Amino acid sequence: MRGAAVGVIVAVDGPAGSGKSSVSRAAAAALGYDFLDTGAAYRALAWRVLEQGADPEDATAVERALDGFAFESAGDPAERWVRVDGVDVTDAIRTPSVTAAVSGIARVPAVRTRLNDGFRARLAAAEPGVVAEGRDITTVVAPHADVRVLLTASPEVRAARRAKELPDEDRSAVARSMAERDAKDSRVVDFLEAAEGVTTLDSTDLDFDGTVDALVALVRQTADV
Ligand code: C5P
Repeated sequence: MRGAAVGVIVAVDGPAGSGKSSVSRAAAAALGYDFLDTGAAYRALAWRVLEQGADPEDATAVERALDGFAFESAGDPAERWVRVDGVDVTDAIRTPSVTAAVSGIARVPAVRTRLNDGFRARLAAAEPGVVAEGRDITTVVAPHADVRVLLTASPEVRAARRAKELPDEDRSAVARSMAERDAKDSRVVDFLEAAEGVTTLDSTDLDFDGTVDALVALVRQTADV
């Protein structure tokens, strides 16, 4: 809900490897807005579950891990830190074990409710605006956002981009795990098709700067800023 928000809210959803995180961060910097990576919060909770030695597929254990879960992340797009309970987990939440565990915890309804409350509070406080990215920002977290975008790219291009970020891993394994994660995640929230009123931005034939420029142009045009 827009609720009492005073700033411009830009909601960006998309599948793994669509570039939504780096593109949204750069667009936020260009616009002078805050940046919110909601996937980082799901990853941070998955990290906490693993730290506690709990099973990420056990919903009761995952709900227990929500107790006292204190997630913080940089709002300034020029900063990158993520903290859980005051511990810096910026790099720890990007490991393959966290990536493999995150879809399991993300399908627990109590997790989504709790994290969404936190996201909405961040959106409502952002001034003059915020770019928030994830899987269900355009549909569940902020369906009344000023600008709603689904960032996509062909599966081949997404796999190639992800493989470039993970040079030590086998390319076909990266493509396979990305497809598996999208399949699992899209059973919980639909981010493969644009919902009504959501603009699709296909970056298959665009480079990074071209995609950022297209998103910024869309924000300027839609939100009249
Ligand atoms: O975007 P990222 O790959 O960091 O997201 C990690 C995971 O967090 C996704 O695979 C998904 O399981 C979960 N997620 C979600 N809803 C969001 C953002 C992320 O379920 N809004």
